[in-house]
Amino acid sequence: MERNERERQMSPAERRRRMEAKKRRQKERARKKRIRMLILIGMGAAAIALIGLIIFGIVKLVSGSGSSEITSKSGTFVIAIDPGHGGEDIGRSNGETVEKNVTMDICTKLETMLEGQGYQVIMIREDDSRMSKEDRLQKANESQADLLVSIHGGYSEDSSASGAVSYYDKDDKQSKYLSEMIQEALVKESGASDGGSQEGNFNIVSDTEMPAVLVEVGYLSNDGDASSLADDTYQNNIAKGIAKGIIKSLKES
Ligand SMILES: [Zn+2]
Repeated sequence: MERNERERQMSPAERRRRMEAKKRRQKERARKKRIRMLILIGMGAAAIALIGLIIFGIVKLVSGSGSSEITSKSGTFVIAIDPGHGGEDIGRSNGETVEKNVTMDICTKLETMLEGQGYQVIMIREDDSRMSKEDRLQKANESQADLLVSIHGGYSEDSSASGAVSYYDKDDKQSKYLSEMIQEALVKESGASDGGSQEGNFNIVSDTEMPAVLVEVGYLSNDGDASSLADDTYQNNIAKGIAKGIIKSLKES
């Protein structure tokens, strides 16, 4: 009763002020409630995202290593080998050691080793003739090979640079895996300085339709590398390393 008494005594202006104050408090409470709801929804979404990420991580971890292995389209693995340069295009040279010959020597040895293991081999360049990039790509893609390995020599203005490097296209995880397997086995078999497995920007690895790796087997600008590359035993060890790396990257059924 007292309250009603007081309200009756209030002026209309006072009553309006009180009503407005009450509305403001209600609005403020509603606003705070909305914020609490938004925070809750946000936390829920973050929790769901986190759980999703964890599941994704576990699935990747479980399926991870196997999915980078190379599978065969036909049952028998078909391996394309590309000896760099040829004909008038001799590549780099160091004295008597010429890149187009080194690449052909190593590829021929590699061909023999892989065929001996029961794989089908396609030589992209078969003799000492010049071949354009386009012809190499066309032959590689038409071959329907399961993978391709291109062989080159390296070159640097710095004559002390030496060793072997394997290059792959950054967008292909099978190529990356193949590159890592080749590089590891090549260094182990030949004792070459390890230039690592790296992303590289070459047509023969980026424009081919199969997993592909370009191996620079040694620097022709380095006298030590060049004399090794001219040596038959060393070429054999390089070829053996590359063959082992290729075979390790295959998913045999
Ligand atoms: Zn080259």
